Amino acid sequence: MPDLRRYVPVMLIASIAGGLLYLGWTTLNQPSEVACTACDRAVHLASRVDGISDGESLTFCCAACALRAKAQDVPDLRVTRVFDYASGRPLDPEEAVTVVGSEINLCMREQVLMDAHKEASPLHFDRCSPSVFAFSTEAAAKRFRAAHGGAARSFVELEASFE
Ligand SMILES: [Zn+2]
Repeated sequence: MPDLRRYVPVMLIASIAGGLLYLGWTTLNQPSEVACTACDRAVHLASRVDGISDGESLTFCCAACALRAKAQDVPDLRVTRVFDYASGRPLDPEEAVTVVGSEINLCMREQVLMDAHKEASPLHFDRCSPSVFAFSTEAAAKRFRAAHGGAARSFVELEASFE
């Protein structure tokens, strides 16, 4: 009879690793508990943007919302981190490539679900549209565009266009 206790540490590690993997997978495209500083929508890790204004850390639901906030209400906002759509990992804004105006909009997706319970609402301005997602490489942005459309721009270029 094999000593089953020998396998306990292995099984423990495997289940912890599996759990973490599952957690990473499910949290990426799910709204977190954090709400956007500007519009109060749930923040998705795949589109999140962090910034700082007047010494205060701010979190935004997406780059479109953050850059609109900077252009309109928070002129001293400095974007400190954008998050990679593909991995949910933080990226340096200076290095990030964005895709603007694809068919995917994580902020609007929830809006549509909410509106479905009411009457059909006419298309109106939304601060999170057109959508903006960040990527770590041009290749990753290109793959995303092939599937979902949109135009590629560096984050720096995009930020300048909002001013
Ligand atoms: Zn927002």
